[in-house]
Amino acid sequence: MSTLIDVRDLKKSYLLGDIVVNALQGVTLAIERGTFVAVMGESGSGKSTLLNLLGCLDRPTSGRYLLDGIPVETMDRDQLAEIRNQKIGFIFQNFNLLPRMDALEDVELPLLYKDSETPNGDELGQRALADVGLAGRELNFPAQRSGGQQQRVAIARALINKPEILLADEPTGALDSHNGAEIMNIFQRLNDSQGITIVMVTHSDEIAAYAGRIIGFRDGLIVSDKKVTKPAIPPAEAVAVHIAAGVSP
Ligand code: ADP
Ligand code: MG
Repeated sequence: MSTLIDVRDLKKSYLLGDIVVNALQGVTLAIERGTFVAVMGESGSGKSTLLNLLGCLDRPTSGRYLLDGIPVETMDRDQLAEIRNQKIGFIFQNFNLLPRMDALEDVELPLLYKDSETPNGDELGQRALADVGLAGRELNFPAQRSGGQQQRVAIARALINKPEILLADEPTGALDSHNGAEIMNIFQRLNDSQGITIVMVTHSDEIAAYAGRIIGFRDGLIVSDKKVTKPAIPPAEAVAVHIAAGVSP
């Protein structure tokens, strides 16, 4: 395995009025390609800040970040946007779907930000929806879906540009445990069969147990880092989210 995410002494401070908040105080972390990592820690410990930096949404105050060997910590906004489009998919707690868009339109949205037109956009969109068990649901709107279905549409949207990395900030935080397990089933399949590297922030021990490695955060620092020898297996009823074409079980 090779290192995909290589972070060295990463620091991030925010200025709040005249108060400096040291959100990350020197994080050093290597994540191998194809791993599924959970990040845990109290609220305010810097988890989202780390995810934003890993996702090239923001730049560190100091320290290094090599993404697939490329130093990204000094890139400008346009370069960061380019890297994000090519390599990274984001998933958030509250789905961030657009109320007036049907599932297929929403999933295809990232294609609009590309330099060149994607001629087979609908095909890619349908494939991504099938990957999350939503084949045939292309035309429904957010209000017609359960929270679990909304999060699956959001995952499909994150997958449309075939990212190497999925970054998920409390993706099951707004879901009940059954829907949470369904999302973990999808994450494990994307990780196992497509080799997508996943970094997921969660508050839940139960959800973190689905990952292969659990990193603990406190006051902007890593305080624990454990390999999970036997990641949890979702209960049978959560696996019934028929992952259709494209992803082998
Ligand atoms: P977590 O995701 O673990 O709850 P965050 O990374 O969101 O933690 O926040 C870490 C610290 O940085 C907190 O004290 C938070 O208030 C502060 N913080 C986060 N984002 C900003 C921002 N944009 N401006 C100012 N302070 C921020
Ligand atoms: Mg957070």
